[in-house]
Parts: sequence; structure tokens; C-alpha cells
Amino acid sequence: MSDYYKTLDLTKGASIDEVKKAYKKLAKKYHPDVSTHPEAEKKFKEVVEAYQVLSDTEKKQNYDNYGDSYKNFQGHSGFSGFGQGQRMDFDFEDIFNQFSGMNIDLGDLFGRRKQKARQDYGQNVKVNLTLLFKEAAFGTEKEVSFDRITKCSPCKGTGAENGKVKTCKTCGGNGRVIRQQRTPFGVFQSQATCHDCRGEGKIAEKKCTKCNGNGLITKKTKLKVKIPEGINTANHLRLSGKGHEGRDGAGDLYVVIFVDKHDIFKRDEVDVYAEIPISFTESALGATVEVPTLKGKADLKIPAGTQTGTIFRLKGKGIKHVNSSSHGDEYIKVIVETPKKVSKKQRELLAKLEKEEQLAKKRKSFFEKVLGKF
Ligand SMILES: [Zn+2]
Ligand SMILES: [Zn+2]
Repeated sequence: MSDYYKTLDLTKGASIDEVKKAYKKLAKKYHPDVSTHPEAEKKFKEVVEAYQVLSDTEKKQNYDNYGDSYKNFQGHSGFSGFGQGQRMDFDFEDIFNQFSGMNIDLGDLFGRRKQKARQDYGQNVKVNLTLLFKEAAFGTEKEVSFDRITKCSPCKGTGAENGKVKTCKTCGGNGRVIRQQRTPFGVFQSQATCHDCRGEGKIAEKKCTKCNGNGLITKKTKLKVKIPEGINTANHLRLSGKGHEGRDGAGDLYVVIFVDKHDIFKRDEVDVYAEIPISFTESALGATVEVPTLKGKADLKIPAGTQTGTIFRLKGKGIKHVNSSSHGDEYIKVIVETPKKVSKKQRELLAKLEKEEQLAKKRKSFFEKVLGKF
């Protein structure tokens, strides 16, 4: 399991300020462009991942509370895997495009977006989604809404009224302009993208009035998201092509999951934990008691002589693994309750019991004495 605090050389519970300081130091140290460490890239990614969680108040709190649920996340994160056209992937991919606060382009760093660097792709979008304990355990469908940059519909993203365009005069339709720079060493020429047509070579005859020639507008967008059974805090759902639109294509939408606490059940990955009170007599004599499970009540047999704090396992009564069909278990901890108030009748019975216990003790010490002599 990953220990984000350890990754950042911090002690558990360190403040966000300390996290930021440690991150700056380590990101510099392991940045693959500069580091000579043999595992620089791996280390760097670990540091970034730890930072993403611990620098965010909400996520940090979740991590501090749930800690272990981040196990899923670990080992699945990475850059490989999902091709175009999959509309609804489930993955644990880091949302590096959303990553802010440090001036590092992670896309470029790992060669992911290099090819497309000059094209105008929409940005990835991250939305947080908080689920009820049961929604995460059983899966559901939720709606997320966000301000999405989309292609303007009257001009179909061209920025030109009725889509009418003409050749850009600045670059002569080339899309690129030659720039001259005078320096003490002579005149240097360089090529640059034409500003007027953004490299398209064409500009609007008349600007579209809806988007003011921009081609893109911001629209409140609602989307239904299918939540798979067994999802947990820190998991991400990626909806390919549902992020902001650009002129050449749309980015992805990342839905970052947070799961609320439950009054009865505590969750550790796919296992759930609950505590139930039992009476002194039930613990001493044994009993069959009703216990809560995720899918209603179940009977639990408690053997005679059960001590307080004993844990029983209900096999397969936990949560489904998000990417397999197997289920976790439920663990029930029994707490033997001592009555705070007793009735007259109960007091009499308990007094008798006490007398019996005293006799048993006396008999025991008598036998020990006698036996000790032999
Ligand atoms: Zn131009
Ligand atoms: Zn328009």
C-alpha cells in the first residue's frame, strides 16, 4: 500500500503547507528532465500522486480517514491503456491535465500529447462526485453538471457567420508567418503560427455574433454517469471525449469519486465492518442474533462464552470488487454490554449468580491448596 506521507518524507497528518514544501523539493529532485536517479520517472509520478491527494483539503481528509481505500488506486495508475472511442472507461488514470500549481506540462513530459501539441484539443475536465455509501457499494446512475466549452452551434465552431470564410491576408492562407529578429549577431528568422487565423489560413468573412468569432462557447452541461458497483473514494471514471471541446477534438471528462461515511458500516476496500451490541447472557450462554448486512438482515450464531470484541466473518457479504465479480466479506464485532439499570428481579438473579461465583472461587482455591500438597 502506498503511504503518501512517506512518499513525501512527511509524518502522518502533516499540514498542507508542509506537503507543498516537501512536494516542491522532491518534484525538483526527481523531475525526469533533470534527475539522474535511475527511477526518476517512477519516483516523480509517486510524488505527484501523493501531492495531488495531500494538497487538496477534501482529498487529504478522505485519505486521513479512509487511508486504506486508496489501495485500489495504487498499482493501477499509469499512462497506458485506453484507446480512442471508448466512451465509458473505468480506470484509475491520474488526471494530470488538471494538475495545477506547478509549472510542469506532464503531458509533454511523458510524450503523451506531443504529437498533437500544435492542434487545438479541448482540455480535460475534472468533476468531483460524492456518493452515498450504498450508491458506491451497489452502483447507480448519477448526473454531473459542469460548465463545458463547446463548439458554437450557429457557426459550427468556425467563428464565421453562416460558416463563410476567406483566405487570411496576414499569412496568405499559409497559417504561418516568418518572424525576423535583430540581434547583435545578425538577423534571425523563425516561423510562427499566424495570430490572425490561428494557423488555419482562413478567417471569417463576418464574425459569428453568438461566439464573437471565437467558435467556442461555454455551456452548462449535464451528463448521466453510470457508477459501477464497488467503486471507492479516489477512483476515477473517465468519459472519453466528454471534456471541453476544441477545434480539433474534445478532451476527456474525469469524474473523481468520494464516498460518504455510513452510520453502521465502515469500509476497507471490499470488506465492510460493523459492531453490534449483545447482552451479557447472550455472550455467556450463546445465542442467534440478527445483524445488519448490506442487503438486509442476517442471523449470526454466537457461541457460548463469546468475549467482548470477538469478530465474526460473514463470507461474501461485503462489497463487489469493482473490476471482478467476487465480493469482500463482512466482519461483525460483538460488544458485550453491561446493563446500566437492572430491575428488582434481575438484581435478585444477579445476586444469586454472584453467590454462585463466590462459591466456585472458594472451591477452586480449596482444590488448589489440596492438590498443592501432593
Ligand atoms: Zn493567417
Ligand atoms: Zn459562433
